[in-house]
Amino acid sequence: MRRFFIDNLQASAGSSVTIGGDESRHMLTVLRMGTGDRLILINGSGTELTAEITSVEDGEVKLTVIGEMPCAAEPIHKVTLFQCLPKAGKMELIIQKCVELGIHAIQPVYSKRCVVKPERSDNKTVRYNRVSHEAAKQCGRAAAPEVFPVMTLSSCDFSAFDLVLVAYEGEEELTLKTVLSEFKEISATGETGIAIVIGPEGGFEQEEVDFVMRNGKNAHSVSLGKRILRTETAGMAMLAMLMYDLEG
Ligand code: SAH
Repeated sequence: MRRFFIDNLQASAGSSVTIGGDESRHMLTVLRMGTGDRLILINGSGTELTAEITSVEDGEVKLTVIGEMPCAAEPIHKVTLFQCLPKAGKMELIIQKCVELGIHAIQPVYSKRCVVKPERSDNKTVRYNRVSHEAAKQCGRAAAPEVFPVMTLSSCDFSAFDLVLVAYEGEEELTLKTVLSEFKEISATGETGIAIVIGPEGGFEQEEVDFVMRNGKNAHSVSLGKRILRTETAGMAMLAMLMYDLEG
């Protein structure tokens, strides 16, 4: 069934929904849908609604919601990416790819060795959330992960996470694989909240890594392997490894 992302949709099984604008135009003229066709409505809150078109009037599509179910594309474990600000243009790529890979939320972070300075973040935050929304829509997720306004690393709070992983290029011993094998007992019992923290092009200072380790209750600095990855590669690679391990 075709999936449609409808913002601010308040509906549940049995209710009627009217869709106009670009979405209805797309349904009618591009997809040639009509009365009796079924589709999935996604309302951005993690739920999918199955609906049937009951009529088409003046370019608007009227539907009845038949059923509700949680979206299968949403991961069980909620991973938040704390991404230190990369050079211009890279954050959009990071957001897009991490949304595809199953991130739960993204916190842009200003740290000591960031090459770029945070500008007034309002416009950027709006743009970043638009990128997240588009990516969520494209890959079939039920909700667009939120991208928060930029924060300095020292004001980030990691204490509520079940696991905090700082990717540290200076970590020589502990690997992600080892930490995850020890986390298995907890993750097997159900939903967890995990933070992954990625440094900027200039990397982390040891004291920044120490700060995160002190602040998080199950925090580890981990190596992602023998090669130094670019900041935009590190988050995606780490998230893919986490999803493979935790979600199968
Ligand atoms: N300029 C630094 C590298 C920074 S790479 C240097 O030359 O040492 C950017 C960020 O990606 C790092 O801060 C870290 O968070 C992550 N990263 C890249 N490669 C990594 C690796 N092999 N292990 C752990 N983290 C890594």
